[in-house]
Amino acid sequence: MNKNYNIDERGFFGRYGGAYVPEILYKCVHDLQEAYLPIIESDDFRQEYHNLLRDYVGRPSPLYFAKRMSEHYGCQLYLKREDLNHTGAHKINNTIGQILMAKRMGKTRIIAETGAGQHGVATATVCALMNMRCEIFMGKTDVERQHTNVERMRMLGAEVHAVTTGNMTLSDACSEAIRDWCCHPQDTFYIVGSTMGPHPYPDIVARMQSVISEEIKWQLEEKVGRNYPDYLIACVGGGSNAAGTIYHYINDERVKIYLAEAGGHGIHSDYTAATMHCGTEGILHGARTLVMQTPDGQIKEAFTISAGLDYPGIGPMHAHLAESGRTNVLAVNDDEAIYAGYELTRMEGIIPAIESAHAVAALKKLSFKPTDVVVLTVSGRGDKDVQTYLNNKSFAKEYGDF
Ligand SMILES: *Cc1c(COP(=O)(O)O)cnc(C)c1O
Repeated sequence: MNKNYNIDERGFFGRYGGAYVPEILYKCVHDLQEAYLPIIESDDFRQEYHNLLRDYVGRPSPLYFAKRMSEHYGCQLYLKREDLNHTGAHKINNTIGQILMAKRMGKTRIIAETGAGQHGVATATVCALMNMRCEIFMGKTDVERQHTNVERMRMLGAEVHAVTTGNMTLSDACSEAIRDWCCHPQDTFYIVGSTMGPHPYPDIVARMQSVISEEIKWQLEEKVGRNYPDYLIACVGGGSNAAGTIYHYINDERVKIYLAEAGGHGIHSDYTAATMHCGTEGILHGARTLVMQTPDGQIKEAFTISAGLDYPGIGPMHAHLAESGRTNVLAVNDDEAIYAGYELTRMEGIIPAIESAHAVAALKKLSFKPTDVVVLTVSGRGDKDVQTYLNNKSFAKEYGDF
């Protein structure tokens, strides 16, 4: 087998990807396509990016041997601790890179979409750091249910727009951000939060997050004497922490890859966000990809207990990798994620983000040999989700009455 998993020069992963944007954005998107690789590869960018990752974000993030969970699952389990980053998740790796790119392209105004508010906070944070004007688009429903993140963004100096179109959630916030970009193509840089959107965004975000697997390589070499694991596990919403986790291993077939998407109440219910199980080919937010839609092409609302995985699309690279069989995608339901969140909390003293708990739940669905080295990315910390865990504690009865 000689498969090509990489992006081609037109921005496609197999038949997925590309840049389907309104004509008014052609120039903007084309300028970015021309500019991004030379910027990312320049010494000046690399140095500033890596210094900030080290001193501001706190990288490298630890690769932690989870002893009790390893015994429980009969493998050698290592956790990649993105939860320990500044602002509490992997998203800051990407927003730092994109704001450095915006500065080098002479842009003066930053916009971003956000669902749970994690990407909004990570964007508002780097805008404060770089003294840039920041406007965040967020569905009105999310503004109401993620209020602390809205307050964090406002404290950081960002203006938060509550979007009232559609279901008033993440997908509508993306559409509104693209609309704003159409009105201000000259001065505005759109910081996209995941491996989605028109080319080159999926590639930009994957490269910014690839620091995760770059570190896993040398950390594994140090800890187990070889630089690759037998298994990689991560959760997928749009696909950025997963892309970063697998980036340097995509062409290494010794490494098995399992990704967890949000099943909600189950892939056969109407309450799901499992796009790779339930989606069909379509165009969403500038890319050809898998989309949850009705037979006549209306986008369906995504449902999951996890606001960060609540998206009816998926990054085009993941649509391609899953279809070519390189990655195995598991649907993890709300109750399984809650249980796994309690399990990691009680066995290792780590409260994971509810998104990351979906990845932890994948362990139960796999069977390992005792010598298998498994690396699982904990994409974020669960402080924001404590109330959700407590409200749903009945799914994890064996951990006690709380
Ligand atoms: C946003 C988020 C996700 C989902 O986004 P990806 O782009 O798929 O990584 C996962 N975990 C956490 C903690 C998040 O904040």
